[in-house]
Amino acid sequence: YFASENQFSNGTTQPAFQVNLLRNDFPILSEQVNGKSLIWLDNAATTQKPRQVIERLSYFYQHENSNIHRAAHELAARSTDAYEGARQKVQNFINARSANEIIFVRGTTEAINLVAGSWGEQYLQQDDEIILTHLEHHANIVPWQLLAQKKGLKIRVIPVDEDGQLLLEEYARLLNPKTKLVAFTLVSNALGTITAAKTIVDMAHAAGAKVLADGAQSVSHIRTDVQLLDADWFVFSGHKIFGPTGIGVLYGKEALLNSTQPYHGGGNMIKDVTFESTQFHPAPSLFEAGTGNIADAVGLGAAIDYVQKIGIDNIYEYEHFLLNYATKKLEQIPGLRLIGTAAEKTSVLSFVLQGYTTTEVGEALSREGIAVRSGHHCAQPILRRFGLESTVRPSLAFYNTCSEIDTLAHVITSLQPRIK
Ligand code: PLP
Repeated sequence: YFASENQFSNGTTQPAFQVNLLRNDFPILSEQVNGKSLIWLDNAATTQKPRQVIERLSYFYQHENSNIHRAAHELAARSTDAYEGARQKVQNFINARSANEIIFVRGTTEAINLVAGSWGEQYLQQDDEIILTHLEHHANIVPWQLLAQKKGLKIRVIPVDEDGQLLLEEYARLLNPKTKLVAFTLVSNALGTITAAKTIVDMAHAAGAKVLADGAQSVSHIRTDVQLLDADWFVFSGHKIFGPTGIGVLYGKEALLNSTQPYHGGGNMIKDVTFESTQFHPAPSLFEAGTGNIADAVGLGAAIDYVQKIGIDNIYEYEHFLLNYATKKLEQIPGLRLIGTAAEKTSVLSFVLQGYTTTEVGEALSREGIAVRSGHHCAQPILRRFGLESTVRPSLAFYNTCSEIDTLAHVITSLQPRIK
């Protein structure tokens, strides 16, 4: 995937990364939209899928499709092998100690609700405190709020500075013996801020709290090592890492998972059932009641293989270059205000344009084939922190190019200045 480094006219050097070769793996990137070539800059919402994932799904349905575990026939063995193989790929990718620590769920949202509805239900009591951050996606706010209302818990929030970085000294002040959980994102989906994850985890543990780390926006950009991070739970969605929708992962430390009550009951997760009582299997089966999303788990395995073939550190390096390139381009546009200027950022640019609503900017870009998100990005608290209800959010993946960024900047620049 690597060629010699490319030199740009402004003196910057692009890492040796064969982006055009990789783009060939993504059929949708050849799509025409409104008569223009698609420029997909909505990667924080969802990523596009390489042929390797699409073909893996098709292969599963053509050659392996069966329910898993239950039957003793050849196709059951094939589908079980494929499903459990995908679990091992996830384990290896995030460096979990055991495949038993990998639970397949629908996505990040379900994973967080699972922890709230199982561990939270079981272990949290009135007046216990949960610390969140101002950067959280609604998926890491609402489940805790629902639990807090039910149980009389308190939610506290780590504030951010003007750049959109967390204020760790405020965090230190919030931690106290009543803190039972810290739930935080590794990367802000609205601003792109990379949080000081390891410090956040270590401070929480020192205070005796458990930690849930939301990796939805980090997993496709930054190396994940759950043993190094040491969070008690780590969650992500398959569709944000070039895999299918409807599949995601809850990683949890094995002993913790096995000392937590299940939140769904049903088939697959039991050793023995009578009308009087049930004996459960340990994790991961404990949290995988019913027929899961077998094919898409297998598809996620293929996506992880794909990312590992490129190398997550190579992806990080190229995207870092691309983000700096895009930031410099957008900064030069008159009337454009970038939101989120932390020193540590990845893959997300958020902005407003003087005289235009964010919807108008999004529509103007769409007319030129450019897909960005305009809106609140399911992160209203952090946008309101900056006095906004909505931003325009181009977000990057490794298949984006400098020339796509040039087109983005060109279309925004060509909007006629409007002074309100
Ligand atoms: N957390 C973060 C940081 C996100 O960006 C998202 C999705 O945008 C989610 C959670 C929710 O992910 P999903 O909708 O795939 O469950």
